[in-house]
Amino acid sequence: MSIPDAFCGNCISGWLYGDWHGLKECPCRTRGGINRQLDRIPLEYRDLRIEDIKPDRKRHPQQPMIWRAVKSNPGGCYLICGPSGAGKSAVMWALYRWATLSGRPAIAMSLADLIEDYRRAEIAPYEDDYVPALSLSNLQAGGARWFIGIDDFHLARATRFAGETTYRLMNMIYSNQHQLVITSRRDKDDLERHWDKAGEGRGVEIMRRVLEIKEATYLPMF
Ligand SMILES: [Zn+2]
Repeated sequence: MSIPDAFCGNCISGWLYGDWHGLKECPCRTRGGINRQLDRIPLEYRDLRIEDIKPDRKRHPQQPMIWRAVKSNPGGCYLICGPSGAGKSAVMWALYRWATLSGRPAIAMSLADLIEDYRRAEIAPYEDDYVPALSLSNLQAGGARWFIGIDDFHLARATRFAGETTYRLMNMIYSNQHQLVITSRRDKDDLERHWDKAGEGRGVEIMRRVLEIKEATYLPMF
């Protein structure tokens, strides 16, 4: 049995050569990237389409308000805080899907996993040994606008390393105006107190980036 080619056959590994300067991405490669990004959506959220979502008032009385907010601006930045089971992750993954289908690079993971990923890169003996899933150099100016979804912003231990890493990431996202969507079971003031444990003033520094990024909206569900 032969392994089917991931590409369409009219291109060279997804790239088109011609009488233009440089390479062009073949539509098959673009499609492949979009499908891989969609495959990362957890099964329970995979069918959520922001266009035809029905808010579930029984789950949480503020659901209609939250969905109305994100539907009116699916490219905006959101800090969504509320109890477990309120539907916060559903909103995050629906926005991830929307960004992916818009052809943008997108990533979503828990803050604890993200920090663990950076820690592995930090302790790797050589810089190229371990490349984190969301490398800060990808977020520098001039590239595409990323979607960055971070679940459970309260769950990482507020160590010095976690505080510094989180601050650097938030600052990079803020400075280059990427799309940031955060969920947490704690409200914004609680998050600030949490991150202050990582070092004097860290809480303010981190939360200022989160709340003052372009098009930021705070959506509390308490
Ligand atoms: Zn192709």
